[in-house]
Amino acid sequence: MTFAALLATVTIVFPPEGAKLPAINRSYVMGAAEDGESSLVVSSLTSRVSSPAFVSRTGAWATVVDVKPGTNVVEIGGVRRSFTVAPIAPANPIARAEPKKTYTKLPYAADQAKPHPKGKKPEEITVVLDAGHGGHDGGALSPHGLPEKDANLRLAKAVRAELVKRGYKVIMTREDDTFVALYDRPKAAHRANADLFVSIHHNAPGYATNPLAVRSQSVYAWNPLGERLAKAINVRMAAADPSLPNEGVLHANFAVTRNPEIPSCLIEADYITHPDGEAATWDAVRRPSIAAAIADGIADWVAGK
Ligand SMILES: [Zn+2]
Repeated sequence: MTFAALLATVTIVFPPEGAKLPAINRSYVMGAAEDGESSLVVSSLTSRVSSPAFVSRTGAWATVVDVKPGTNVVEIGGVRRSFTVAPIAPANPIARAEPKKTYTKLPYAADQAKPHPKGKKPEEITVVLDAGHGGHDGGALSPHGLPEKDANLRLAKAVRAELVKRGYKVIMTREDDTFVALYDRPKAAHRANADLFVSIHHNAPGYATNPLAVRSQSVYAWNPLGERLAKAINVRMAAADPSLPNEGVLHANFAVTRNPEIPSCLIEADYITHPDGEAATWDAVRRPSIAAAIADGIADWVAGK
């Protein structure tokens, strides 16, 4: 039998929203997958094809869920790798250097900062909410295979509901599972002459970090304008879930935070790559409380707090 004949893809069917996700009995993180590898195929040699493990690519990592003890083989982007499942996650996952990133200035960005909307009523304030990723760009993957794009959209819609309830005008960069080009996202805020721009994401670790070892929330900003907004949101989010480690406000030169005149920030609500972060993201009871905290933070910033 050829190796290809042993391969089988596994699809995880998600339960209704709010229901408990299937338990992960055994989770194993294997080395980094090359960037751009998206289709993961897995086969367990121990169990042949009868009970293949599920592999999800979490940004740079492949997480294997519910594999059989013993020797397993996975194929990632055509490269065959074998691994042995131990009761505990391996201490030395393969680390890779972070790829170099390049940045360009937004051509349509003005250099003048918008005046702070202090004193304005919510009805006079336009918020642009950006649910990260979408369409063929799924973002990170949870251990059970929930794409980050879905988690981002769910949270963004919950934030919109909170803001609309309070009277704010809200524009979404996407309202469904469609692809929006990176630079079209801040452009939407410029086109709407928005007062603020908030991008919503869920985090995944870099190449050198085991995804089972990291879970936190953080808000990224590029300049002091965005930083004040990020701080107001972060304080409220941290108070809404004190059990989730808080990295606070971090600096990032992202296309969606690099807006000289519109206060902009990017929320990493949790690590979707951690089983507990995945469960928190999927929790339909918890989500509105996080959305309310983000709306509270926006209100604090508008009030000049
Ligand atoms: Zn993301």
